[in-house]
Amino acid sequence: MSEPIKTDVLIIGAGPCGLFAVFELGLLDMKVHLVDILDKVGGQCAELYPEKPIYDIPAIPYITGQGLCEALMAQVKPFGPTFHLTEMVATIEKIGDPLFRLTTDQGKIFEAKIVVIAAGGGSFQPKRPPVPGIEAYEGTSVHYAVRKMDVFRDKRLLIVGGGDSALDWTLNLAPIAKRVTLMHRRDQFRAAPDSVNKMKALVAEKKMDFVLGQVTGLEGPGGQLTAALAKPDKGDPYRVECDVMLPFFGLTMKLGPVASWGVKLDDDLIPVDTATFESNVPGIFAIGDINTYPGKLKLILSGFHEAALMAQKAYHYVYPEKRLVFQYTTSSTSLQKKLGVA
Ligand SMILES: Cc1cc2nc3c(=O)[nH]c(=O)nc-3n(C[C@H](O)[C@H](O)[C@H](O)COP(=O)(O)OP(=O)(O)OC[C@H]3O[C@@H](n4cnc5c(N)ncnc54)[C@H](O)[C@@H]3O)c2cc1C
Repeated sequence: MSEPIKTDVLIIGAGPCGLFAVFELGLLDMKVHLVDILDKVGGQCAELYPEKPIYDIPAIPYITGQGLCEALMAQVKPFGPTFHLTEMVATIEKIGDPLFRLTTDQGKIFEAKIVVIAAGGGSFQPKRPPVPGIEAYEGTSVHYAVRKMDVFRDKRLLIVGGGDSALDWTLNLAPIAKRVTLMHRRDQFRAAPDSVNKMKALVAEKKMDFVLGQVTGLEGPGGQLTAALAKPDKGDPYRVECDVMLPFFGLTMKLGPVASWGVKLDDDLIPVDTATFESNVPGIFAIGDINTYPGKLKLILSGFHEAALMAQKAYHYVYPEKRLVFQYTTSSTSLQKKLGVA
C-alpha cells in the first residue's frame, strides 16, 4: 500500500470552481491537492465547450471556456497546488475530527483535514459503443482512455471515432504501435482539420490505415481481442485484425462514487449551509454545480462566491488556534506577498 499524501485540503474536481477554491484557500495559507478524472483541468469548460464564449464572468465581458481555465491556472500559480489528473476519488473515510482518508481508483491515498467536493455534474464517463459483448473485453483489450502510451507499444490498435481524442491518439500512437487502424463511420471528422490532414498523410505514406464503418462485433478468447467485425454504410462487412480497440465516442456525466461518500444527498446534489457551504458532515464542503440550496443557480460565478465562504470556515478547522482577520488583496501586504506581487 502506498504512503498517504498529507494535505490541508483535498479538492475533488478541478473544474472552474475547484480551481478558484485553490486561490481562496491559498490566500488563507492552506495547502491544496486536487484530483480529477479528466486528463486536463477545467471541468465542463475545458471538456464540453472550450471554444464557446462565456459572457457572464464578472468584469470579463468575453472569454472562452478554455481561456477561463487558463486564466484560473495563472491566478492559482502562486499557491503551487498539486494536480492528480486521470484519477477518480473512489472512497472517503472519516478518521479524525475532522480528518479524512481518501483513495483513488489508481491506488493513491490522501489524508486531508478538509475535503472540498467540487465534482460538478459528477464524473465524466466514456460513452460505450453499442457492440454486443464488449464488457468482456473492457480493461483488458478495450480501453476508453490512454493512461500510459507504452502499454500499446508493438500492438495492433483499432482506434474508433472521428473527434479530437480519436485523431490525437491515432497520431500519438502510430509511431509506437505495430499498426494503427482508424475507423470512423464517415469521411468527415469533428477533429481539428490539422490533425485530420496529418492522419491522411500517414495513410498516404502507408504508415497506418483508415477504414469507413462501425464495429458490430468482437472476436477473441478470454477477453483478449484478436479481431473486430465491422460494417460500412455501403458495402460488405469486413474484419480488422487487432489486439486492442480504443473507442473514443465522447463522454457523459454520471454522479459516480459521490453517492457512496456518506454525505447527505438530495436528488443527487449535496445540500449545504449557505453561510459556509459545508455539507452535513463537518469538514466536508461542496461547491459549484454539485451542491444545492434554496435559490441555487448553476453558474460559475455562484461557485466562485461559494469557494470564498467555504475557505473562511475551512480555515478554522485547519488553524483552530488562530484568529482570522479579513483583508483585501488591494491593501494587504501580507496577501500580496503570498501572491508574489509585493
Ligand atoms: C454548454 C455549456 C455552456 C455553459 N455556459 C455557461 C456560461 O455561459 N456561464 C456560466 O456561468 N456557466 C455556464 N455553464 C455551466 C458551467 O460550465 C458550470 O456551472 C461549471 O462548469 C461548474 O463548475 P464546477 O467546477 O462546479 O464543475 P465541473 O465544471 O463540472 O467540474 C467538475 C469536475 O469534477 C470532476 N470529478 C467529478 N467526480 C470526480 C471524482 N469522483 N473524482 C475526481 N474528479 C471528479 C469531473 O471530472 C470534472 O472535471 C455552461 C455549461 C455547459 C455544459
